[in-house]
Amino acid sequence: MKKLLAQLPAVDSLLKREEMQVLIERFTHQEVKRAIKEGLDETRQAILSGQVTNFSLEDLLGQIKQAFDQLIEPTLKATINATGTVLHTNLGRAILADEAKEAVQMAASQYTNLEYDLKAGHRGTRYQHVQDLLKELTGAEDALIVNNNAAAVLLYMTALTKGKEVLISRGELVEIGGSFRIPDVIESCGAILREVGATNKVKVADYQRGINEETGAILRVHTSNYRVLGFTESPSDKDLVALAHENDLPIFNDLGSGLLIDLQPLGLSYEPTIKELIQADYDLVSFSGDKLLGGPQAGVIVGKKKYIDELKKFPLLRALRTDKVTLAGLEATLHLYRDPKKAMQRIPTLQMIAKTKEEVKHQAEKLGQALSKHIKGVEWELLEGSSQVGGGAYPIEKLPTCLLLLRIEGMSEDELEKALRLSEAHIITRVMDGAVCFDLRTVLKGQDQVIVETLLHIVEGKN
Ligand SMILES: *Cc1c(COP(=O)(O)O)cnc(C)c1O
Repeated sequence: MKKLLAQLPAVDSLLKREEMQVLIERFTHQEVKRAIKEGLDETRQAILSGQVTNFSLEDLLGQIKQAFDQLIEPTLKATINATGTVLHTNLGRAILADEAKEAVQMAASQYTNLEYDLKAGHRGTRYQHVQDLLKELTGAEDALIVNNNAAAVLLYMTALTKGKEVLISRGELVEIGGSFRIPDVIESCGAILREVGATNKVKVADYQRGINEETGAILRVHTSNYRVLGFTESPSDKDLVALAHENDLPIFNDLGSGLLIDLQPLGLSYEPTIKELIQADYDLVSFSGDKLLGGPQAGVIVGKKKYIDELKKFPLLRALRTDKVTLAGLEATLHLYRDPKKAMQRIPTLQMIAKTKEEVKHQAEKLGQALSKHIKGVEWELLEGSSQVGGGAYPIEKLPTCLLLLRIEGMSEDELEKALRLSEAHIITRVMDGAVCFDLRTVLKGQDQVIVETLLHIVEGKN
């Protein structure tokens, strides 16, 4: 033991080594010295306790370097989404089209005319950039952007219904997740919630009965993440809007998912588009930028100029305002929608939803063959299954897909799932039927190759 302890080098001699000099350039002399001392202390303790029976300088240097690597490693990392859930909220929802990525990079790295009117040569507004596009795409009189859809609802409820009663159907008292519950939101905006109808059945007459001198607005909330099925009834948009306007009340629609193109041709069920709701004459409609729209996180409000003007003047807007990077990404995404065909081809969210079972199967077969070719001890099979749109859109809709179930000799499915998740590529999969399950609907071009390499690495590491 004494002999081992005597082998431990002095701090100063370690500091002079090239590996440590590299670290000193990136960090500071003091930090590296402290790390060396700590490393030596740990090794000394390990020797004294008998855990370490031979000292390796290499190990010690490696240990110190690793500690610094961890320091500079970002915690927000790229992942590969092999779950098949297109708008996976935990994995950051929509990924951007190339056009939007370029716009984001431009806005992040250069000065922009964010709040500068280039023609007039003086101050402008940040909202001018997407306003006209949104008006064109939705048919609305005006538009406004905030941080996310939750912020949008918060803004218009606070600005327009504070101290008044808000009518909402019992069937629409939604919790969106992350404790965003419509009843709580309405209350926190200073409005008074007035529920109408029954959970499964609500009629125009129920709303009618709820109206009194205290009523400030009617709110409709899209039941994005669940459906009431069976014996159900709710008024049409047209009838409900008519009732609101006959009583001189504004009516708002929290649509959530934000569909600009009808997706029924893809075999999905009917969901109203923003344009239809504007045509139905809602005063304000709000939706997310990073759900079906396929853009960056944002909350979009479209509707009557009279109300949007009030929102623009409301002090809370300043706290909810979007940054230039988001606005750039959103503008570029919306631009693609001017040609719906282009939007379908260029926006990853729409592309992935549109992928057929046969296309996913083709990709899965190719991956399976590559795995068999390069890796020993793999066993895979294809299985019919379904992917989800996610992000609270199309809650009961299943997109027919083809799953690849993978097993590796000498490894449990849970071990394999964990190894993939913790690998450098951070591949997120599901476990199913004693196997690890890949749904390649959400795996991007070029990532199939990364999956093969990662699995090869995992299998080699195991032996
Ligand atoms: C998703 C959703 C929200 C919240 O939108 P964020 O953009 O995530 O803040 C609010 N309302 C409905 C109906 C939703 O579907």
